[in-house]
Amino acid sequence: MKAVRIHQHGGPETLKVEDLPDPKCEEHDHVVVQMKAASVNHLDLWVRQGIRDWKIPLPIIPGSDGAGIVTSTGPGVKDLRAGDKILVVPNVSCGTCSFCQDGWDTFCPQYGILGENLDGCDAELVCFSRRNIIPMPKHLSFEEAASIPLVFMSAWSMLVTKAKVKPEDFVLVWAAGSGVGSAAIQIAKLFGANVIATAGTEEKMQLAKALGADYVLNHYKDKISEKVLEITENHGADVVMEHIGDATWKESLKSMAKGGRLATCGSTSGHKVEINLRHLFMKQQTILGSTMATRGELFEIIHFVRQKKLKPVVDRIFPLSEVANAHKYMEEKKHFGKIVLAINS
Ligand code: ZN
Repeated sequence: MKAVRIHQHGGPETLKVEDLPDPKCEEHDHVVVQMKAASVNHLDLWVRQGIRDWKIPLPIIPGSDGAGIVTSTGPGVKDLRAGDKILVVPNVSCGTCSFCQDGWDTFCPQYGILGENLDGCDAELVCFSRRNIIPMPKHLSFEEAASIPLVFMSAWSMLVTKAKVKPEDFVLVWAAGSGVGSAAIQIAKLFGANVIATAGTEEKMQLAKALGADYVLNHYKDKISEKVLEITENHGADVVMEHIGDATWKESLKSMAKGGRLATCGSTSGHKVEINLRHLFMKQQTILGSTMATRGELFEIIHFVRQKKLKPVVDRIFPLSEVANAHKYMEEKKHFGKIVLAINS
């Protein structure tokens, strides 16, 4: 089978499309999947480049989420059969510790993500545990389905589980064109909030509006905190969705309302930031760290996807053989929504 592998950290040229033996499947509950699509996430860029103070096992097949067709299953799998269309869940955890039993698999001591801690989805054939497989919503294409898990899980956990977004809240969403941004706009609207999104080009601003954002600001031209205060008549944003870090942090804090909640899931521009504690306690604000979401939260997301209240936003599809170009395209930040690899097509 063909698969993408990284043997050493570096630029897009380190993504090698290789002929590998089909995966060996020995677990009682394994599911073998012929992958049809895998999405490219910002995490893939980190895995490829290497993360400081974080060991990634090499070589590794990247790709945290995807969709495909079941080809065979282990003897312990009773509810899936060959031919079923499925979605791959990125979370890996032990399934038996108190956190896992409680539904908080992201707190499991063995928690990991496919494509970061073990081989992922950028391959023609994969073999995962039954726990990593859920049926695919029938109305979606493989490319659309592959676009859902990681970014919707990240945005859902931040906005719904952590920040408890509610009707009439003003929600600031940075970088509407990112996968997590395009998911966040839809989730905030689903809960009846007012969305203030930011984007870097006129075209992306239009797309953000079309996706449901009530207000769209240009994060290169506008002073975001001033605009947020203007739009909200000096109230500020009740919820701020942070995933940029250093470059946007000050503006994020300045944009927050009294009692505001800031949820952060990433620091693509730098992870060292300052906080004025006096502002934080006097305004009774909350800063919430968040990473991914539990499997249970993905089921909630899929419920709304089936109802067509949340929809994947696919920007561009590359064949698996062009994975390096897909990574370059993401680095150029030209996309609005998800970049997807088509496999076995
Ligand atoms: Zn566990």
